[in-house]
Amino acid sequence: MDLKATTHVCVSPVQAEDEEETQVHPPPPMFLIVVHGGTTGAMLRIEGRETTLGRSLENGHQFPDPTVSRRHAVIVHDDEGLAWLTDLGSSNGTFIDGKRLAPAVAVRIEDGARLQLGVSTVLKYVSLNAREESFQREMFERSVRDNLTGLYNRGYFMEQIAASCERNRLRNLGTALLMVDVDHFKRVNDAHGHDAGDAVLREVARTLREATRSEDLVARYGGEEFVLAIPIASVDQGWERADQVRRQLAGRSIRAGRKELRVTASIGVSCGTATRPRTVKALIATADVALYEAKRTGRDRVVAAERILAESERRTESCEALAV
Ligand code: GH3
Ligand code: MG
Ligand code: MG
Repeated sequence: MDLKATTHVCVSPVQAEDEEETQVHPPPPMFLIVVHGGTTGAMLRIEGRETTLGRSLENGHQFPDPTVSRRHAVIVHDDEGLAWLTDLGSSNGTFIDGKRLAPAVAVRIEDGARLQLGVSTVLKYVSLNAREESFQREMFERSVRDNLTGLYNRGYFMEQIAASCERNRLRNLGTALLMVDVDHFKRVNDAHGHDAGDAVLREVARTLREATRSEDLVARYGGEEFVLAIPIASVDQGWERADQVRRQLAGRSIRAGRKELRVTASIGVSCGTATRPRTVKALIATADVALYEAKRTGRDRVVAAERILAESERRTESCEALAV
């Protein structure tokens, strides 16, 4: 190594400390971490001067907790970088470290404070540097994703589905719920082994990711079942999207070791529209019935819950007509 070519500057430890002190560091970003209620571990970044918190979607951060008011509280960062929390006249109160805030009075929040909105939403107000942020994010991702496929897990889907339907409703759209079940999947395991089965599930998940958009919610519901919630403008559009997913799955050749496999899936689809919304419970239950019908009538097909409901209504009407 040519020492002459390298410039060495010796800095005494005292000088180095002085320089560090004069260097201006931007304040680390602040977050609310969900401790209880909603999606535990979720990180909500506090940006800008004012962030409103509440149950409705127009807030900076939204909490799907019935004891949180629609516009519940607001966090304001002042010019000196201090944070203040104000209760906006909520029904069930806002608390900092267990103390209830008087309505419309700003109270200082310190780094590490425990905030409570209503009866059960608890948040930790913390600053996180880049390393802490990525660690926290990774822990969160692990808790909401399925290990094998990388899709969201069932628990996260169930937490998010109501908010997803509400977002669609605000855009004047409905929601289609698709229950997707791989056909005769047990045979894949039996004929080619469990690893080949796993490879098939990963590939099914990849196909679903490719077939969907950022506003769609996609999850592994369990075993070889998957669930999708998709914004739709009409019931027909819900069926079309489901059939597109079915065709993409059937057309895929899946590599498992040295083998090329093909699978099909049956799909039950249930739609709530902007004018005829369905509860989450009804969407899931009716999509499940439709899936069962798709299996019963031959697999590799889409059955719409609306069709089954219409047929059962017709049957009831003809029974009533006969009884007259
Ligand atoms: P159907 O067409 O009626 O849906 O039949 P099926 O064989 O797909 O359904 P069944 O419920 O009989 O079998 C599902 C199989 O999925 C049984 C289970 O061992 C397998 N399975 C569930 N989770 C996993 C997994 O993570 N990896 C693998 N390889 N297999 C799994
Ligand atoms: Mg199944
Ligand atoms: Mg199956």
